Order: sequence, then structure tokens, then C-alpha cells
Amino acid sequence: MLAISAFAYSPAATVDVDVFGEAACPDTRDFVLGPLARLADALGTTASVRYTSFGNAYFFAPCAGAVVAPPGCDSSASCRFNATTRDCWFSTCGLGAARPPDACFKGSPRCQHGAAECLANRVTLCAGTSLPFVSCYFRALGSEWAAGSPSTAVLAVGRRCAFASVGAGWAGIYSAWRVAVDAKARDPTTVCVFEGSPRFGGRTFTVRGDAALFGLNIDIGAYRFAFEQHLPADLLRGPLRLPTACYIPSCEREPLDGNLTLHKLMDPRLNSSAGYGTALDVMVAELRAAGAHLQLHKELDAVHAHPRPTGAVLRWKDGGSTVADSVLLNLPRHALNRLSRDSLLFTDGRPLARALYNCSRETSQANYSAEASVKVYLVYEDAWWRTRLGLVQGEVHAPSDPPMYIRYHDGPVRCGEGAAPACAGALLVQYAHSLEAGGGFYMPFRASKSTPLTVLRGEASELPGLLHRKLLQMHAARLADAGIDPRSLAEPAAVVLGFWPHARDEILHPAPDPLSFSTAHGALPQCLHGVTSASYSEATRQPVVGRSLSVANNDWWLEESSVDLIAPYWAEVSLRVAERVLHDQLGLARPAWLNAAYYRKSVLGI
Ligand SMILES: Cc1cc2nc3c(=O)[nH]c(=O)nc-3n(C[C@H](O)[C@H](O)[C@H](O)COP(=O)(O)OP(=O)(O)OC[C@H]3O[C@@H](n4cnc5c(N)ncnc54)[C@H](O)[C@@H]3O)c2cc1C
Repeated sequence: MLAISAFAYSPAATVDVDVFGEAACPDTRDFVLGPLARLADALGTTASVRYTSFGNAYFFAPCAGAVVAPPGCDSSASCRFNATTRDCWFSTCGLGAARPPDACFKGSPRCQHGAAECLANRVTLCAGTSLPFVSCYFRALGSEWAAGSPSTAVLAVGRRCAFASVGAGWAGIYSAWRVAVDAKARDPTTVCVFEGSPRFGGRTFTVRGDAALFGLNIDIGAYRFAFEQHLPADLLRGPLRLPTACYIPSCEREPLDGNLTLHKLMDPRLNSSAGYGTALDVMVAELRAAGAHLQLHKELDAVHAHPRPTGAVLRWKDGGSTVADSVLLNLPRHALNRLSRDSLLFTDGRPLARALYNCSRETSQANYSAEASVKVYLVYEDAWWRTRLGLVQGEVHAPSDPPMYIRYHDGPVRCGEGAAPACAGALLVQYAHSLEAGGGFYMPFRASKSTPLTVLRGEASELPGLLHRKLLQMHAARLADAGIDPRSLAEPAAVVLGFWPHARDEILHPAPDPLSFSTAHGALPQCLHGVTSASYSEATRQPVVGRSLSVANNDWWLEESSVDLIAPYWAEVSLRVAERVLHDQLGLARPAWLNAAYYRKSVLGI
């Protein structure tokens, strides 16, 4: 809320413009940075524009209609601020009051946007009525304002992070959790996690809590791990204490994935998949409980040197900046290469690191076309393939019209109570790692480029019906054998799709890049000839000599059969590299819960 007054006594005099604003109010901010700035520019020296804080704030006044904040309401803007009480205070204690009683300014002021606004009002008061300062401060608070979390923004200004993890996918969250919660290597309140997108998790994304999807936890990104991948397996089964089950019910080995037995996370209450995102949710919750600073919508723009010898200044796309003593950039290839070219990694980076940052199949081959991973689940109220046909594992390929790749064991199934329980379920009907091999058909159904998730319901899209009909065709013989009329099977409630394009302009939800480095996918680019996995990782993860600035993420790894159990774009590689960074940069020792031989070979050995 704003109030403005203007006075001019003679044509030659300057006009006094007084603006009374609220520091954590989007309207004030938009007005100050927009029309008011233009007005001040236009009027130049003919006007004197002053900004006054605490507009709309009041102290509690004992008059009719005034409401005392109920107990426990201290930090909530909505229950502390009361317009009747404000009006009462204005009339009794404000400018118009002939003789304000002594009690007018007792206690602490109440601001419409709560404690954060009061704090920000105090900061603006420090600069008197200076409009340039106020404009600068509002700009520094940045986009968090628009995102609706002014308290985080207000408190973040001037924050210094002892350890900052940028890019909150698996490895970004893990490294902050290790530092703040597990090893307690730094005061948790000085450990920071910054994520550019509106959600934590990166390429791990569990869709959950949607009643229209029958409460199923559906992973549209990463979802499986082997116990031999001690990172993350020892973490999940050790300190995070998360129940697991075999990904294939028979626990047989998966020839496609390192011939290992794969596992998933379970929710024992539902006897259904919990979703891989549970691991990240637990770590985020523990970080928050420990007092760490976690922020979404914080997209890194540049990394500059800090006068302190090893520190760095992180500059954000919203114009703000943060000083950090030690930084881990958990950024995929495109995200890192999109950082401003005046960033330390490029200006002071070691030549090999600089060369490797730019070295991908994409940059080295003219005929490279951007790829995408696509995952498609059909969501049914009745998981008929399981309840009626008894299909609990196995897979079927149907490459065209539309292309499908069914895995009966892939997708959560959740059954109710009772002797013949009803089971809702999601069935994986496509999982493609390239557009040519079945992903391309689904791309036109992508709802938005701003999220990997698309949910299409039957009434709004032809896709659920199309896939359902093909599924029934494919199972016609089995249904007939079981005496089931296909028409009795209801269409799916929805199709849930995950789109993970490897495109330069979509850095916040990238497909894994090492796919293109894997020797299984053709010859390595020329720029990688003679570069070993170890030298690749060493150069890219420690790009600047003498700075406490590292790079993790499995986009910076070259397949190495002696340590890679599975394709190098699985989460394990990101976690291995992150753990190595924590060892080198912060001096962290092996966590007690992590297999010692694995740590020596796969973490320190790289
Ligand atoms: C469909 C699919 C299925 C998969 N299945 C499996 C599986 O079963 N098991 C497995 O182990 N792995 C799997 N993977 C791979 C796995 O998802 C990744 O290896 C893992 O998530 C990588 O984690 P990360 O933290 O290194 O990176 P990411 O998850 O990519 O995190 C990077 C983060 O950085 C953020 N970011 C980017 N730019 C900026 C910026 N400028 N400022 C701030 N933040 C920024 C991004 O938004 C993102 O959140 C799968 C991947 C896909 C796409």
C-alpha cells in the first residue's frame, strides 16, 4: 500500500513528493521501480522525491474495534495485521491526532507483510528518505519478492555462506546435507542451497499427492539404484533409513543396467513405491530443520572472485549476489556453459578445464541433433494388467503407431484394504532416450517448456484414449483367454509424461549429457582424444587453482569401465564426484556409513 503527497508553493519552487511505502509489498516495489523512478527522472531537479518507510504500519492502540494478535500469531502477517486496529491507531495517534496519547508508540510496530516487512522497513530507514537507496535495496531483494517469500529475500540480503551448493539435484542437495547435517563440518545456518527452478530435485522428480492420480507416487525422472552403487545405496539404507524393494519383483538382474539387481524406495504404509524424490525430500527437511538456507528461483548468472583469497561472489539472474567461502556448482553442461563469460571458471580457469567445458559431441559434430529422454505412464483406477491378467513383471516392445515400450514392473500400484482389494496403478508404456527411438512421437504432447512434467487427462487430450486402445489391442488374446471384455476396462484417468530434453535453452531440466560421451553411443568427439576419465574429472571439478570453487554433476564424467557399474549418467556418478569435492575442498573424511572399499576406489580413486 502506498500514500503519496505533493506540495509546491510557487511556480519557481521545487515540488516535494512524499511517498509512504511498505518495504515488503509488491505494489510498493513495482511503483518505486516503475512509475516513481520515471517520474523522478522526468521532474529532475524541479522535484524532491522522498521515500518514507513504515507506510501502513501501526502500533497496537487500545480503542474500539482494535484486535490483539492471538497467542502464537507473532510471525504471521495475516493474523497480526488488522485494518480496524490500524485505522484506530491512525486516527488516535497519526498525523491528524491533536494530542496522541503516550501509549501510541509502545511495543513493536505491526507491518502488513509481517516481521519481514518491519525488518526491511528498518533497513530503508537507515538511509533516511533516499529514493536511490530504496530503489537499489528493492532491486537487491530481487525476484523472491515476486515469488511470494519476502522474508527469505529480506534475510538473504547480506547473507554469507560458508558453503554454497548451487543446483539442487541429487548431488547438490546431498553435498549440503553432508556438510551441514551428516558431518556437521560447518555451522548449518551458514550452509546454503540455491536452485534456479521452482523445485528441488533436478532430474529426480516424484509426482505425488495428486488425488486425481489416486495418490500414486510416480517418478518421471530417476528412480532406481543398485546396492552395489554404495552412493546412494548406503545413504538410503543407512542414515536416511528408507525402506526399499526390488525394482523387478523377482529381484532378478537387469541385463540392460550393468546386470545388477535394481531397487526402488518404498512407502510401507501404502505398500507401494514412495518415489525416488523421497530421499531428496528427507535431506531437504533435515537441512531446513538444522537451519540451513535453501532457496528456489535462484538462478546463477556468474561467479566472480571475492577479495578473500579463496572465496567467491555468486551473482544471480535476479540481480542479487551472495558471498560464499566455498562453492560447489552442481551444474550440468549447458547450465555451466551458460554462465556469464566473465565468470572465474572461464577467466581464471585452467586451460584443460576451459577446453573440456566446451567439448561435447554436440559442439564437435555438425550433424548432432538435440536429444531427449521421455518417460510415459498410463494411470488407471484399476491396474487391470496386474489385477486381471496377473502381469507383474516383464516387458513388451511395440515400436510404432504409437511407439510403446511397456514394463509391467515399472510404475506404482496401490491397493486398498479387503479380500479383493481394488488397485490403482500407473504403467510405464514408453521410456525412450532418443527422439528417433520412440521419444519423438510424444514431444508434441509436451504441455510446457518450463517443467519436465506433463499430465494429460482423458477429457482434454486424445493421448490417453489412443494409448489405451493400443494397449487393449496388444493384450487382446490374454484378455480373451481370461474371459474379460476389453470394453469393460475403463480408459486411463491420465497420462503422466516426463520430458527431459538435452537442449541449450532448457538448462533447468536437462537430459543427461554423458549419454553422448558413452562409447556405446559411437566414437568420442575429437576434443576428448587422449583425455582419461580421471583427468577429465580432475580438470572439470577443480577448474580454478587456489579457489574453493568446484564443479560436480555427472555431465562432467567420461565413462570408465573400471569404476562405472552402470551408465555414467546415473545419479551415482554425480554423488561420487560431489563426495570427492567434499574431501578435497572441505577436508571431509569418509562417512562412517559408506562402504570403505568403494570409497577408496570409486570416490578417491577417480
Ligand atoms: C528419465 C530419467 C530417468 C533416470 N533414471 C535414473 C535412475 O533410475 N537412476 C539413476 O541413478 N539415475 C537416473 N537418471 C539420471 C539422474 O536423474 C541423474 O544422474 C541425477 O539426477 C543427476 O543429479 P545431479 O544433482 O547431478 O544433477 P541434476 O539433477 O541435473 O541437477 C542440476 C540442478 O541444477 C539446476 N540448475 C541448472 N542451472 C542452474 C543455474 N544457473 N542456477 C541454479 N540452478 C541451476 C537444475 O535446475 C537442476 O535442479 C535418470 C534421468 C532421467 C532424465
